[in-house]
Amino acid sequence: MKAVLDHVGIAVRDLPAALAFYRDALGLEIEAPEDVASQRVRAHVIPVGASSLELLEATAPDSPIARYVEKNGPGLHHITLRVDDILAALAQLKARGIRLIDETPRPGAEGSTIAFVHPSATHGVLVELKQSSVVSLRSSAGSRQSQVERYALGDLELISVCDGFFRLDGGSMFGTVPKPLWSKVAPPDDRNRITLAMRPLIVRGARTMIIDAGLGGKDDAKFHEMYGVDRSRNLDHTLAEAGLTPESIDVVLASHLHFDHAGGFTVRDASGRVRPKFPRAQYVVRRGEWADATHPHARNRASYLSDNYVPLADAGVLQLVDDDQTIMPGVKVRRTGGHTMHHQLIVIESGGKTAAFVADLIPTTAHAPDAWIMGYDLYPMDTLAAKQQFVKEAIAREMLVFFEHDPVVVAGYIREENGKRLVVAGG
Ligand SMILES: [Zn+2]
Ligand SMILES: [Zn+2]
Repeated sequence: MKAVLDHVGIAVRDLPAALAFYRDALGLEIEAPEDVASQRVRAHVIPVGASSLELLEATAPDSPIARYVEKNGPGLHHITLRVDDILAALAQLKARGIRLIDETPRPGAEGSTIAFVHPSATHGVLVELKQSSVVSLRSSAGSRQSQVERYALGDLELISVCDGFFRLDGGSMFGTVPKPLWSKVAPPDDRNRITLAMRPLIVRGARTMIIDAGLGGKDDAKFHEMYGVDRSRNLDHTLAEAGLTPESIDVVLASHLHFDHAGGFTVRDASGRVRPKFPRAQYVVRRGEWADATHPHARNRASYLSDNYVPLADAGVLQLVDDDQTIMPGVKVRRTGGHTMHHQLIVIESGGKTAAFVADLIPTTAHAPDAWIMGYDLYPMDTLAAKQQFVKEAIAREMLVFFEHDPVVVAGYIREENGKRLVVAGG
């Protein structure tokens, strides 16, 4: 079992006195308090590195914290270890005869599930196990198993596939968000890079479509080193796992033409010629994006590699679309701008259900809050407006949202609770 220290809970009798130490004397910052009504507790969270301290204050005389303080005085109340799979963790403990307070997990704060282990089995410390469903990119390294995920959406089948992982500068990925904040959800490597997935989406209906196609295999060792590329399991593997081949694809749809989305549109053959990867497919690209990609400037040149898309025009398989429209039954494109002037998201509707493939509008679940906008975006204020509008609609319509670059979460539902925006993984 892999467990990470999430937080240490400290039962407090006299909050101002506790703040005088933790906030004033130590100089630590304290987040706005959060009430956990079911426990009659108010939690004051103090971030300390990758973990936090939680000052726990009773809000009613019958609160477990009030009873604890009455019996033991203020002090260390519990430690919380975060695990990837709480059911597996509990099964493992049960198998070893460990005494549990909770045999089955129960709901915790912010959509998490929690379970307590009995202090008699833990040498006197109350240990809480927690599995976030509010997902953290932190666990990315260990959880790469879900690279093919299937979802039913009315008459359509959606299959998330994966072209592997790469790394980008964490500061660039989170724009104006300070590192102490983003590094908590996406820990950087020794070169300040964070891990991102490349997850194209297959839509199967009357025809079979792939939206974006990852990085592809045309790049050299220097490029792979610079971007920390790991394509040990790539689009070919995951397509095969989904029971598909490049020949199965009728339509290729581009969110935009950056290399991590369009690189897989083409392959270099044995003779060195670059040709379309999906031999039967029409490739659908927004006209404005095509114009920008074929006329790059100093700011976007590193992202637009012409071998990824110019050969499509040469092969006569390119179809340019001018505006928001239906590409195949149930699949519509909608321009967002922001990331690039003509970046588009894809809305998929069938049987009264809606999903959205948001590409670089919200590249990972960590980008769900309004202000978490990539430094790469050419028009960040347009990203903000498009994101606010989309999120409102996604919540109202219960949209299943696909996060193309999230290293852990393939898809989920955006929620707002107590003024906080979060993503509940699922489908
Ligand atoms: Zn992009
Ligand atoms: Zn991207």
